[in-house]
Amino acid sequence: ITSKLPNVGTTIFTVMSALAAEHKAINLSQGFPDFDMPDDLVNLTCEALQNGYNQYSPMAGWMPLRESIAAKVHDLYGVEINPDSEITITPGGTYGIYTAFTTVLQPGDEVIVFEPAYDSYIPNIEINGGVAVRIPLEFPTYRINWELVRAKITPRTRMIALNTPHNPTGSILRASDIEQLRQLVEEFDLLIMSDEVYEHLIYDEEPHQSILRYEDLRQRAFVNFSFGKVYHCTGWKMGYCIAPPAFTAEFRKVHQFNCFSCYTPAQVALAEYLKNKEAYRSISGFYQKKRDYFAELMKQTRFKPLPSYGSYFQLYYFDHLSDLSDKDFSIWLTKEHGVACIPVSAFYQEAIDNGVVRFCFAKKEETLDKAVERLVKL
Ligand code: GLN
Repeated sequence: ITSKLPNVGTTIFTVMSALAAEHKAINLSQGFPDFDMPDDLVNLTCEALQNGYNQYSPMAGWMPLRESIAAKVHDLYGVEINPDSEITITPGGTYGIYTAFTTVLQPGDEVIVFEPAYDSYIPNIEINGGVAVRIPLEFPTYRINWELVRAKITPRTRMIALNTPHNPTGSILRASDIEQLRQLVEEFDLLIMSDEVYEHLIYDEEPHQSILRYEDLRQRAFVNFSFGKVYHCTGWKMGYCIAPPAFTAEFRKVHQFNCFSCYTPAQVALAEYLKNKEAYRSISGFYQKKRDYFAELMKQTRFKPLPSYGSYFQLYYFDHLSDLSDKDFSIWLTKEHGVACIPVSAFYQEAIDNGVVRFCFAKKEETLDKAVERLVKL
């Protein structure tokens, strides 16, 4: 059949996790925790199931959950979000991102995308007839060169896709980036797709520069979040999109004929669980410890680190250890040394290979210990 994505293969996360399973490797490739989610949240979900919350929830999401989200966003970012008209519960962050692009893009519309880019963005844009205008992040800082962005804007530019903390690099947007962004979106009347699924995974006391903090930016933005990343339950595929009322109304037109509504028991449980401020405020410290634990262990190896300011990923140079491409190196490492990672070139359309791979440190200490025992042999 003639497909809409003829040139797209299987996502690198599926490929590397399957390879890790096949070779019984320690899987530091695809991003997901290997430890349990919070007991309280499990119990709340069981209660919801037992209490009969097993039918469709409203199309936009369980209202008490949307109210809890609004309270949380107010607590963190100091902004009043209307739970009725500005929040939609989605089956995961990726779905919210896809729906935002689908809601907005007309054939030929250009979207600014920074590479390395999370691998769903460009296919999402192209399936909607949009054109991804790819701009490389500066290497090795992985920061945005705003002059380059300005140079790439055309009358067809409709949207800019942002991701902070950034997957796969762990870079973050700073206040100076926000200032540049404000000028640019105003001057060229651009919309924003902001992927903030790692909002709480930010370290060293850096503030998360959520688009929601800035009224002028938020009025142009679809901002996407994930419960899976925050509460260690990626398998739940639960998230939400915050956007101004007119955007949300259009977003829901797409959503209602796609997924319609999300898993009710989890929404009922999360509505209650989100009221626990400590639960979300402690995530940054929890993951910073893991980042530091992994980084300390990795000092025993010959891999050279790049900084991780956020997300649960850390990049390492391997190019002084091997002549292989990053893809071949990742496969070799998985098969021969039993540790799976992700080649960063997979996040570029025209594979740019800087000799770096991504490791996920959202793992038990014993898993990280075992992985590094293997990596020291290189
Ligand atoms: N976001 C996860 C990662 O970067 C993977 C999600 C997925 O496999 N679709 O590893």
